[in-house]
Amino acid sequence: MSDDSFKDPATIAASMVGISDMDTGDVAPHVKPATTYKYGQGYVYYRDKGPGMEDTEEVLNRLEGGDGAMVFASGMAAATSLLMSLGPGAHVIAPETMYWFLRNWMLKDAPDFGLTVSLYPNGDLDAMKAAIRPGETKAVWAETPANPDWSITDIAGAAEIAHAAGAKLFIDSTVAPPVVTRPLELGADVVMHSATKYLNGHSDVLAGALITREKDDLWAKVHHARASMGPTLGAFESWLLLRGLRTLDVRMQRHSENAMRVAEAMLGNPAVSHVLYPGLPDHPGHAVAAKQMTGFSGMMSIRLSGGPEAAARAVERTKLFRNATSLGGTESLIEHRGPVEGPESPTPQDLLRLSVGLENARDLIDDLEQALGQ
Ligand SMILES: *Cc1c(COP(=O)(O)O)cnc(C)c1O
Repeated sequence: MSDDSFKDPATIAASMVGISDMDTGDVAPHVKPATTYKYGQGYVYYRDKGPGMEDTEEVLNRLEGGDGAMVFASGMAAATSLLMSLGPGAHVIAPETMYWFLRNWMLKDAPDFGLTVSLYPNGDLDAMKAAIRPGETKAVWAETPANPDWSITDIAGAAEIAHAAGAKLFIDSTVAPPVVTRPLELGADVVMHSATKYLNGHSDVLAGALITREKDDLWAKVHHARASMGPTLGAFESWLLLRGLRTLDVRMQRHSENAMRVAEAMLGNPAVSHVLYPGLPDHPGHAVAAKQMTGFSGMMSIRLSGGPEAAARAVERTKLFRNATSLGGTESLIEHRGPVEGPESPTPQDLLRLSVGLENARDLIDDLEQALGQ
């Protein structure tokens, strides 16, 4: 069905060219809510697979340049299904700083399923290499840019290290969707997204996705895990995700432009001690980010010279930036991460995480300036 002569992610997302609905002349995809299918048509039951999810998977697969895609009920469902499919006895290495909820799952819950996880310092390829246990390490996990310091991992370098050790490279690319970074092209084996964030882009669907470079044994196990445990993405959510994807390229351009302007304004603000944004030349990951990203996305953090109290006060004072968790929607969000992550977290207590939305950049800067002012 698919017309794959168009390769550019912006074109694929905006026009949905080639997906099966276009056969009827419709220019927009359909919601396909059926949960069961007449035998003999290639489908049996929706929990396993069905047309309601396959258009979305086809588009995601083409956006990432993969060999197959699967959608899940959440980003956590996608990540845990992938990791559990490595099987008991597998050792996984993951970054010290990463999406907090998944880090906790890896350290506290994964051992119950026979996985052991050890951490390496973000972005440090030598330390990554040293953390690998030859013969035992089955996967290297990396998140780039990583929550909430937006540290950058060199995907091509990490792929070399993982593959030399016979391990797979899994990239959580939630903050860098395919119009920004294409990890499979850089050597990653599986890309994971919380599609709740930029892929959907409108804060109205919870979803996850995996895209693979190769449909190998591991991929078959992940499909089996989804079909048997059932964290399948519903047909209506799948359609909402597809709906959001159409504007992916133009949204990401505006997120990146706005975030750069906010970052530059924050650099000059006396209340701010650090601005963590990979688009800034003094960010430790800037050179690698400039190489593997198109634009630097919309996520940044600021640290305040006034400490944790100043951070707690600022989130109460913003009017446009809503004090809420999550990221990647059209609306700007601010969050004081330290208290959310708790005392075990490496996140500095004076840090505010900003998801820079699509509003007018001047309005966003004015809002932060008044919130950070005396
Ligand atoms: C939100 C998020 C997740 C988890 O995804 P859910 O859709 O909330 O389950 C994983 N990784 C990153 C980087 C995230 O931001």
